[in-house]
Amino acid sequence: MSSPVPSAQRSANRARVVRALRERGAQSRRALAEIGLSRSTVKSVIEELLDDGTITEVTAAERGTGRPPTLVGLKGDLGVAVGIEIANGTVRAAVCDTAQQLLLHDAVPMDDHTPPEATLKTAATLVGHMLDRLGLDKHRVLGVGVAMPGPIQRNTGVNGRATTLKPWVNVNPYATASSVLRLPLLVGNDANFAALAETIWGVARGMRDIAYVYTASGIGVGFILGGALYVGANGTAGELGHTTIDENGEVCQCGGRGCLNTLANADSITQKLWRSHHDRLSIADVIKMAQVGDVGCRRVIADAGRHIGLAAANMYNLLDPELIVLGGNLAPAGEILLAPLRESMARRAIHAGEVLPPVVVGALDEHTVVVQGAAAAVLRDSDRFPLPSLPRK
Ligand SMILES: [Zn+2]
Repeated sequence: MSSPVPSAQRSANRARVVRALRERGAQSRRALAEIGLSRSTVKSVIEELLDDGTITEVTAAERGTGRPPTLVGLKGDLGVAVGIEIANGTVRAAVCDTAQQLLLHDAVPMDDHTPPEATLKTAATLVGHMLDRLGLDKHRVLGVGVAMPGPIQRNTGVNGRATTLKPWVNVNPYATASSVLRLPLLVGNDANFAALAETIWGVARGMRDIAYVYTASGIGVGFILGGALYVGANGTAGELGHTTIDENGEVCQCGGRGCLNTLANADSITQKLWRSHHDRLSIADVIKMAQVGDVGCRRVIADAGRHIGLAAANMYNLLDPELIVLGGNLAPAGEILLAPLRESMARRAIHAGEVLPPVVVGALDEHTVVVQGAAAAVLRDSDRFPLPSLPRK
């Protein structure tokens, strides 16, 4: 099917449909008709995009009964997005294609004291090897999403003092990563990217108002509000781990007192067992022992759950999310953590017993959720990461 040289209007309509598919993933034709174009325009744009190989028909994932609807989505061979996570002790990476498929993920251990530039060089090497394994040339990469713990100042792009990676304090990760990776990129907070990943692939698929509580070295929240990632005026929204739980408590890394992190992050949980359990246990050990009935381990995890529940109640009272998702290194504790968390939250939440949102463990693997989200942020951003030479007719 051929048509004359497209008018400016026609190109704009194509760009709008492609943008919607990048932002929302595969959609039904009916949903695409709601992006502000007439049904007949959407129909002809879809036919054109199917014809020139930009999009393809896909069957929706199972939902309810009956025949799943046929959706249209971007083809996977239009390019790839890379996600990189600079975490405590690890650098992770993932490659996703334009059909939002995770192609490959991998990780290498990294000492927390490594300078930022050396860390990013390791990340670049890791990504290079992964692209080789996939048989992909570097020019196929639309962009890179780099995830960091802690807040990143929106205006300056600088890591604040609250980051748990000390060599990165007052470093501009965007500038450093740009000079090392030499690819178009964006930098963001790990919890924010994890929230995005759960709305695309996980338990919050299609939801518009969620809070994703990410437990790593610190506890952060990624907010999706009104369908968009909410980072705040300065980019520091969601620092749940630095909300005060005990005014007279221990001094936190941020300089505050009694922050949630001092009571409920992995280090504070494991440290509580130093006297009773002679081995220096990792958080994964503590969770495993709790699951087989170790009373002390169950106790410290439950206490952490109660503290997180208090902070989550305050968060809920202010923002009213439809779902609260728990991810990261405390998520494998499941109900040992979540039951006391819910109870503590219900005691303090304004609408307890009426519309309290479900609190659930995320569906995505704790080792890939952040890098998948970082790649997804690139796939969604048509302005900063345009598709190379969209087929034209
Ligand atoms: Zn703090």
